[in-house]
Formats: sequence, structure tokens, C-alpha cells
Amino acid sequence: MPAKAWAKIEMTIVAAAEPVVRPRLAATHSAAPCYASWQEAMKDAVREPDELCRLLELPAEFAVAARDPSRQFPLFAPRGFLARMRPGDPDDPLLRQVLPLTSELDEVPGFVADPVDDAAAARLPGLLQKHQGRALLVTTGACAVHCRYCFRRHFPYAEAPRSIDAWRPALDEIADDESIHEIILSGGDPLTIVDSVLEQLVEELAAIPHLRRLRVHTRLPIMIPERVNDNLISLLTNARLTPIVVIHANHANELDSSVAEALAKLSAAAIPLLNQAVLLRGINATVDAQMALCERLIDLRVMPYYLHQLDRVVGAAHFEVPTDVGRRIIQRLRARLPGYAIPRYVQEVPGKPSKSIIE
Ligand code: SF4
Repeated sequence: MPAKAWAKIEMTIVAAAEPVVRPRLAATHSAAPCYASWQEAMKDAVREPDELCRLLELPAEFAVAARDPSRQFPLFAPRGFLARMRPGDPDDPLLRQVLPLTSELDEVPGFVADPVDDAAAARLPGLLQKHQGRALLVTTGACAVHCRYCFRRHFPYAEAPRSIDAWRPALDEIADDESIHEIILSGGDPLTIVDSVLEQLVEELAAIPHLRRLRVHTRLPIMIPERVNDNLISLLTNARLTPIVVIHANHANELDSSVAEALAKLSAAAIPLLNQAVLLRGINATVDAQMALCERLIDLRVMPYYLHQLDRVVGAAHFEVPTDVGRRIIQRLRARLPGYAIPRYVQEVPGKPSKSIIE
């Protein structure tokens, strides 16, 4: 996303923010802060490299190095996520997902702004269709975290609709196309939308007779588990559409007890839970890391769904893992885990009718 667009989203969040009262927050990074609402956790997220490095006891050089890349794609990390990181460890697998590095500024052949060709899949602004029977709504550009490897880090979110009125043309288009049976709410992160608006959107979708399923792709239950509140559960389960929630965790350390509690609420509401991860150099590209992630997910009743090969987006080349390495990891997982605990290792190839499985 262009820096200007991110700045606009940041401004939206900040503009909506009341001054955050912090007496409940931990003085150090190590205890997870306690917030009255998920919105408060969003407003209180760490946005400055200096603060990130201070909280995590990292040398100041990391903050200095983070300044230029964070101008292109701002740092944004909730404090609850920081609390799961090891202080003083620049290689912490959670920190690596959010810490801007100068490697992001490298120009690497083959890495482009729109690696999955979202532009070609756009039926209307904010409505994408890549696969038969399913369509995707880019509901917002806001996220609960800025993942440095994000394939939509250059997406033109400013052009996507952001209100029921603005979504109307997309809703009409979906209503006119009886071949669409499933809607994917994506973004950005659709769970950054307040419940009242989300509920309206879900009701509008549920009123379209040929739609059967509502899939929500989100990192909120991981980043800000407080987001999984009773309202959210009700709006997902009361609608006519079958809900499916796809979370996005890359490492077992992300899945602490607060996340477990949030996932248990979704699971208790009989909402199918799937996880997608991205294979990331320096973060989870080992058999042990993938084993730990898959087993923890299964313990939390989340099916490991996809392990994605990195989408080759500008700024993320340093995260890429060769597919041979990915294949070997999957082979070793097969020898150590039951089949249901092994994700499909996939790659999105623009123009293909489905994700391509890397065998
Ligand atoms: S939460 Fe998803 S959309 Fe948002 S920055 Fe991370 S990967 Fe990208």
C-alpha cells in the first residue's frame, strides 16, 4: 500500500482515539496489558520503532535502522503481542514479523507490488474474484498488526469502499451472480470493523439467497484476543450463512493463554477454525517450529489449513524460503504427525483457478 494510504488509515484510527488511559498497562513489556475493549488495544498499539526497541530491550541501532522502512510501511504492533516476545532477542520469531528492517528497502528482481495480481481479479473496487464460487470483499485497509511480509502491503486500500453505502455496488454485483456461494471477508482485517457495521454487512450478505458460507480471514484473535467478544460470536452465529474463521498464526509462541481463550469461545460456538501460516525465513522455517505450531493449533481445535509459500512482494525478499526447504519440512512433518495436523503447502499463482499445491 502506498505510504499515503497507510497514513490515512493510521489517521482514521488515531482520529477515532480518545486519549488512552494507561494505569492498567504493565510497566514492562513482559506482562500482557489489560484493556477495557479491543478498540483501546488498537489505539494503544506501538507505532514507533524507538518505543518497540525500548520495550523489548533492544539496542538503539535497531530503532535507527527501522526508521526508513517504517516510513514506507509503518510499524504497528499491539502490546499484548509484544508481551509474548523474548526481551533482548532480535531474532525472536514474533518480533521478526513486526520489526522493520533495512532489507525491506532492497530492490530484488521478481519481487513486485502486487504479487498475486489482485488488480486483475477486481470485479469492482473492493470486490475480488479469483476462484469459482467464491468472491472476496476487501472490507478495510486497517489491521491489528503490520506484518512485514504482507502481500498486500502496497494494496491501494484508499480506493476500496468502507461503508455499507460504498459497498452497495459490490453487494449488488454479488446478488446478481448466482454462481457465488461463499463470501470471504478480508482486507486488511475485517474484524477491525466495529460490530454494528459488521453486523449490517453480514445481514446484507445473508439476505442474498444463493450465498451459503461466510469466511472471515483475520489475525485479530491472535493479536488482540479481546476482539472475540459475545457480540462478535452472536453476529457470526445468528446469520443464516455458515461461518468459517481462518486465523493467521505463524509460530506457536503467538498462541498464548489469552489467544487460547478467544479461540475456545469461537470453538464453543461451533464455528469451524482453520489456520493459515506463511513459511518465513528466520521465523518458522524449521521442522521443529512447524511441528510446535501444528500441534498447538490442534490442541486449540484449529485445523492447520495452509502453509503458504511467500508471495513475492516488494520489501519481503529477505523472508523467502526456497520451496525445496518447504517440501522437506512437510515431508518430515508427515513422518511425525497425523495427516489431519499437516497443512497443505501452497502457492498462489496469479490466474490459476485454485491455490497450487507444492508437492
Ligand atoms: S494482518 Fe494480514 S492483511 Fe494485515 S498486515 Fe498482516 S498479513 Fe497483511
